[in-house]
Amino acid sequence: MPKVYICDVIEENGIASLKQKGFEVEINKSGKDLDFENLQKIFSSCDAVVTMVYNKIDAKLIKSASKKLKVISNYAVGFDNIDVKEAQKRKIVVTNTPGVASESVAEHAFSLIIALNKHLFEADRFVRSGKFSRFDPNLFLSNQLWGQTIGIIGLGRIGMFVGQIAYGGFRMKITYFDVKRSEDFELVCNAQYGDVESVIKRADIVTIHVPLLPSTHHLIGRRELKLMKNSAFLINTSRGPVVDEEALIWALMEKKIAGVGLDVFEHEPAVSRELFAFENVILTPHIASATYETREKMSEITAQNIIDVFEGKDPVGLVKTD
Ligand code: NAD
Repeated sequence: MPKVYICDVIEENGIASLKQKGFEVEINKSGKDLDFENLQKIFSSCDAVVTMVYNKIDAKLIKSASKKLKVISNYAVGFDNIDVKEAQKRKIVVTNTPGVASESVAEHAFSLIIALNKHLFEADRFVRSGKFSRFDPNLFLSNQLWGQTIGIIGLGRIGMFVGQIAYGGFRMKITYFDVKRSEDFELVCNAQYGDVESVIKRADIVTIHVPLLPSTHHLIGRRELKLMKNSAFLINTSRGPVVDEEALIWALMEKKIAGVGLDVFEHEPAVSRELFAFENVILTPHIASATYETREKMSEITAQNIIDVFEGKDPVGLVKTD
């Protein structure tokens, strides 16, 4: 009976599918991260492993895997935590769960946009601290989103949904950058394509939706933050290292930008403590995809990817490298 190890607790539906297909399933229910030694034991004894974004699956670990390990099924859309090339060298299939989180992450990005723009958390803290004494016509003013310009960096599945919310819901003007241009999107959402610099300069809100790759590491650094409008917000729900966190703290201190919404952090789960001091910063703990709908789909596809590999089919989430 092939054995699957699941590195954290996931929704039941995928586990049930695996068991139904005759897999033996073991789950890490400790609530704790697995260290390298534990992962090594799992990689040297199992036929398939379900990994989480926080599990670092590097070359050293992959080299220690037993010959029977057929598939690393990442319970995530991104797969920057896995050395895919090393896995491929060893004929281990790597899979992810593409497209399962697009609506959820786009909704989260927009929650951060609205909350920042409307000073929601600041206003909440204001009321809770007993400062609300009378209606003040000049309190917490903001520009309405209607008619503002949103800059989308990375127009993939999530970026497209963000664009649809921005255009359909708020009639925002859209400017975007992606390595691939989408004329359909431009037509449907009246969007303008530009390079990173022009998008950043024009936008009132810059929202990032690229994968973490060597080409996107620190895509937003001091130079880009300087180019942003002083009145603009930056939103990052992609991967932490896409934004240079030190440069971001500098930009906030120097008031180069008006505020930041972050769901991901450069040294996750560590968060730069300097960020805590700013009223115009909203921080969430990598929960942009945390909806029941997404988690169920993630569980289903994670399991199906494994089943497909064992049945000799191409899994839907097959990760390829160029
Ligand atoms: P996707 O693959 O559909 O889209 C990514 C887009 O980025 C593509 O259109 C691609 O062409 C573009 N791109 C790649 N390199 C680029 C570059 N150098 N410059 C500009 N554009 C570039 O992926 P998606 O489903 O939209 O997800 C995007 C990322 O969001 C994922 O890779 C993942 O890291 C992150 N994510 C985060 C969460 C969360 O919980 N915070 C959840 C899901 C996904």
